[in-house]
Amino acid sequence: MDFYDLDGLLTPDEIAIRKKARAFAEQEIIPLAAEYWAKAEFPTQIIPKLATLNWCGGSIQGYGCPGLSHVALGLIGMELARGDASISTFFAITSGLAMGSIALCGSEEQKARWLPPMARMEVIGAFGLTEPDVGSDASHITTIARKDGDAYILNGAKKWIGNATFADVTVIWAQDEQTGKVSGFLVEKDTPGFSATPMQDKISLRMLINAHIKLKNCRVPVANKLADAQSFKDTARVLRATRFGVAWEAIGHAVAAYDLALAYAKERQQFGRSIAQFQMIQDKLVRMLAEVETLKLMGWRLSKLADAGKLTEGQSSLAKVHCCRRAREVVALGRELMGGNGILLEHHMARHFVDMESIYTYEGTNEINTLIVGREITGLSAF
Ligand code: FAD
Repeated sequence: MDFYDLDGLLTPDEIAIRKKARAFAEQEIIPLAAEYWAKAEFPTQIIPKLATLNWCGGSIQGYGCPGLSHVALGLIGMELARGDASISTFFAITSGLAMGSIALCGSEEQKARWLPPMARMEVIGAFGLTEPDVGSDASHITTIARKDGDAYILNGAKKWIGNATFADVTVIWAQDEQTGKVSGFLVEKDTPGFSATPMQDKISLRMLINAHIKLKNCRVPVANKLADAQSFKDTARVLRATRFGVAWEAIGHAVAAYDLALAYAKERQQFGRSIAQFQMIQDKLVRMLAEVETLKLMGWRLSKLADAGKLTEGQSSLAKVHCCRRAREVVALGRELMGGNGILLEHHMARHFVDMESIYTYEGTNEINTLIVGREITGLSAF
């Protein structure tokens, strides 16, 4: 279903990528999603399969990265999330947040060392910013980095860090004791003093493994301090570049919910006919379709601005806020349309319904992204 012909706005390469991502999600992700979601286990066997797509590193140019357009990148995020949001989030963390931190804030040596194996997905990344006591107020993180000869000693804790239990490298954001500013450190797996334990009992994005990280006198070589991460402004640069992708993931959920709801409505019989024949069911489907189509067009324009190098922080945040709010409504309508089956994993809608809650919250909550937009349009910070 492409009601307003989004494909008509895409290049042949972008259409081919969208189709490839859709086929990948249909063949490799959806068949295993319910089982692994229920087990709260990440299907690591998907990593070499994702690697064969050669999309890791997204829009990064050089260093073995694919240098995709932001439109292509958005379409990939949408299609992977239409399959399953734990997989799209896993991919976005290593390809966007971790590689993006290195590409935007790393030295030439750091980029040359880390980006090629990460693009091949031989090295998986994680991104550690949030702390148990510091979430939205991220510029005031309390993890401390103290210089000691040829190394920095990291002490502190992180919470929610996706991929970190098995990632080869985690970008840890910490206050540099000397400058008082936020800096980034590439902490390699098995570094003494670094531990990552899985968080338990999540009711959303259950396949994605989030970690509690502890840093206890964790010694990181000076060579692993991100050279151009001078303050929280640089962390924010990374988030601005990846936040637009979260908007596309929300769109993926909305597309999934609409597709599932339409198919279900045509098939499900009540009162002697398909429920798609009832006016109130058609009303729900049309409301869902209206959101799906406007969100896709917003996502496309957002990506075009990013491709032109014109995307502002406020534009990126507005898309995150708006797409998440609307997608949340769409998955709720889809769940309602399916009646009781809407809360059963086997019908897939329930997974999108609860997973959307995580997308709504991470990479800046609804409130924080709203405040970023508010600051841009009024010139006044309300933080
Ligand atoms: P809090 O900051 O405690 O906020 C609680 C509530 O208060 C929210 O509704 C918030 O919007 C509101 N609030 C806070 N300040 C204001 C204000 N000034 N005005 C109005 N309202 C306000 N982090 C990482 O670093 N790496 C990851 O890989 C990662 N992955 C994640 C995966 C999942 C599934 C989830 C759920 C989170 C992940 N996070 C990750 C953390 C995520 O970014 C934080 O959850 C988010 O930033 C919010 O922080 P918090 O949960 O501590 O909420």
